[in-house]
Amino acid sequence: MRGFIKESSPVTKFRRILVKLSGEALMAPDGYWLDSELLVGLASDIAKATQAGFEIALVIGGGNIIRGARMSAAGWIDRPTADSMGMLGTVMNSLAVETALNAAGVPARTMSAVSMPTICETYARQPALHHLEKGQVVVLAGGTGNPYFTTDTAAVLRAAELRCDAVLKATQVDGVYSADPKKDPGAVRYERLTHDEAIARDLKVMDTAAFALARESRLSIIVGSVHAPSSVTAILDGTSPSTIVAP
Ligand code: UDP
Repeated sequence: MRGFIKESSPVTKFRRILVKLSGEALMAPDGYWLDSELLVGLASDIAKATQAGFEIALVIGGGNIIRGARMSAAGWIDRPTADSMGMLGTVMNSLAVETALNAAGVPARTMSAVSMPTICETYARQPALHHLEKGQVVVLAGGTGNPYFTTDTAAVLRAAELRCDAVLKATQVDGVYSADPKKDPGAVRYERLTHDEAIARDLKVMDTAAFALARESRLSIIVGSVHAPSSVTAILDGTSPSTIVAP
């Protein structure tokens, strides 16, 4: 069933994975908010993961459109309103990803924490679990549905609720480093860390609220690069390096 996954891989026992992608990961090289070729590639990557037996939930950020904290810092709009706009941005991204997945033959449905029943299903835990059990990919939109949070927190929250084995966070770098690898050539990538080690070494894996929830829920976090070809399956099968933070 595991297809491409090596027996030695720490993910061998994982079945249900929540993949978190930032909105920026969907952007085109010319700065347009969505890259359609990239979406096709992402959909075929997720298709490969589902064919290998993984159940996949996705949380897509909205940073390619709006980040509420940055927008409200300008002073003319309050934070909750700007965050509402940010959450709406995540719905737009999620609908694009859902469409690309369906076109690739992967049954997918968007479920939004912010209710908009004429556009997509409203998120509820039991129906989401049911979709996953039926082999559908759930694209979880609208973040947590509350201002002052990020989609990293939404990813960990949903992963805990939906009994995911891990959150796979695809980022700009291929793991968690001892220092910023762009600034310090001596920075080393960790293969494996515990949550407590990450905190003790002050390593930035996710924002503080998200990481605290992951630690409390004993949820594993896999950090790898979004830039690797077929990044999700490459991180899962170990062809692309990563760091696993596990209890
Ligand atoms: N957001 C929010 N509540 C949430 C999740 C997201 O208010 O639970 C808003 C917030 O304004 C945030 C924006 O949506 O800046 C986009 O999400 P995020 O910054 O996490 O996107 P990413 O950086 O992953 O692309």
